[in-house]
Amino acid sequence: MSQDSFNFDHETRGWVDLIPSRVPRPKLTSQVDTKWLVIGAGFTGLSCSRRLAELNPNEKIVLLEARKVGQSASGRNSGYAVAHSHFSGGYQKDQLRQYERVDRINQTGLDSLKSIIDKNHINCDFKESGIYHMAADKNSSEECDYFVDYLKKRQIEHVPLSQDQINLELGTSWYRKGVKVKNGALVQPAKLVFGLADNLPSNVELYENSPVLGMEYGKINTIRLPNLTIKAKNVIMACNYESLAKDQQKQRVVGVTLSGSITRVLTQDEVNILGSESSWGVLSLHSGGATVRLTEDKRISIRNTAEYNSHRLLNDQQLKRRQKIHRQAFDNRFPELSHVSFEHLYSGVEGVTANKTNIFKKLSNNLYFSGCYNGSGITKGTAFGLGVADYACGNDSKLVSDCLSIQKARWLPPSPLLDLGAWYVTRQRFKGVGKDR
Ligand SMILES: Cc1cc2nc3c(=O)[nH]c(=O)nc-3n(C[C@H](O)[C@H](O)[C@H](O)COP(=O)(O)OP(=O)(O)OC[C@H]3O[C@@H](n4cnc5c(N)ncnc54)[C@H](O)[C@@H]3O)c2cc1C
Repeated sequence: MSQDSFNFDHETRGWVDLIPSRVPRPKLTSQVDTKWLVIGAGFTGLSCSRRLAELNPNEKIVLLEARKVGQSASGRNSGYAVAHSHFSGGYQKDQLRQYERVDRINQTGLDSLKSIIDKNHINCDFKESGIYHMAADKNSSEECDYFVDYLKKRQIEHVPLSQDQINLELGTSWYRKGVKVKNGALVQPAKLVFGLADNLPSNVELYENSPVLGMEYGKINTIRLPNLTIKAKNVIMACNYESLAKDQQKQRVVGVTLSGSITRVLTQDEVNILGSESSWGVLSLHSGGATVRLTEDKRISIRNTAEYNSHRLLNDQQLKRRQKIHRQAFDNRFPELSHVSFEHLYSGVEGVTANKTNIFKKLSNNLYFSGCYNGSGITKGTAFGLGVADYACGNDSKLVSDCLSIQKARWLPPSPLLDLGAWYVTRQRFKGVGKDR
């Protein structure tokens, strides 16, 4: 198995631009033999390594990251740490166990993050303020009614909102209706992932800029880095859409590229236009709609494009073109702030499966994969990371059985059909998006 052709693209844009830079951990340059190797230091890999360290206090856990921490989806996302997922369409009684299972997984991730943040005093603007789910167009308004009905039936604490109430709280009359789900948090994603990486247990050795280029499987796995080969008994792949082991599993994940812009810091007068809430986060009830936040440091972030770009970030020209779409969406929502400039422009790649499920898998006796959360991986990725560590250590738990019970991801054809299919699936995401974009 070889990954030589992979080019780990990266640039520091977006949320990482807003905070002081972090000194990355050194590359792995010398031979290590380890019982436990985790590949990928996003939410999944960080959570998995922490849990492995807890379960094996006398063992060394090696965590290899191809890029610098914060340059993957975990440092580029919009920062919604959800407790309750939104399933589109009406409430289906026969899906209740599935709804409950997903929420249990989300809650485990949220609780875990909260406890790590508290214990290590991680400053990541974590705010348990709940999350707004909004509808600007006709289709998503119907979706809003479905969602409110779902929340009622499941007795999940929420507040339905009219257009006027939304305007009072957030200072925009763009949305027809919405609902605020009380459970859930907002974070500054780059601050969070930096904090998680810098507060790992002492028996976790994190190496950054250390891409795994190839692996030979066996009782002891041989792992190839650019100038080095190491041995690991157990390997957990937490590398999202850049899955290694392509010969061990069929292609089931594609990388979808999203983009967003973040404004300069608003003045107090500008903030005053924005209603009563001091910071907030809006998710769209249309799956192709915009996510919009007023951050703790009083910027507005807007993310509203998604496309298939061969698993890669957008280049400067592409980004500039996408920013026109961000600008239009911003001006629609906040016409009184149309003079406010964007200061940051970024893209990020998320792992998506054709049937919107995740992957949690034992590929062989000592090889595991966990990842692909379809745009919702802060809490889920954290929980899956915990679960895969337990699973690999042979521990049975409710979390492990929940993760194992998720629907199997649908197989995808190889390229060039994969590229066509991925392009089509992403285009479908915007069907009927209308004013929600
Ligand atoms: C723009 C955007 C907005 C999003 N918004 C939200 C949101 O608001 N809320 C939410 O819950 N989710 C959101 N998501 C999704 C969420 O960010 C992801 O689901 C989550 O970060 C996935 O975490 P992960 O650890 O599985 O993967 P990643 O963060 O992608 O980490 C995988 C790591 O593996 C490393 N890697 C890959 N291959 C190798 C290799 N061969 N050797 C060594 N290392 C390797 C990569 O460099 C990477 O750092 C968003 C995603 C994007 C892109």
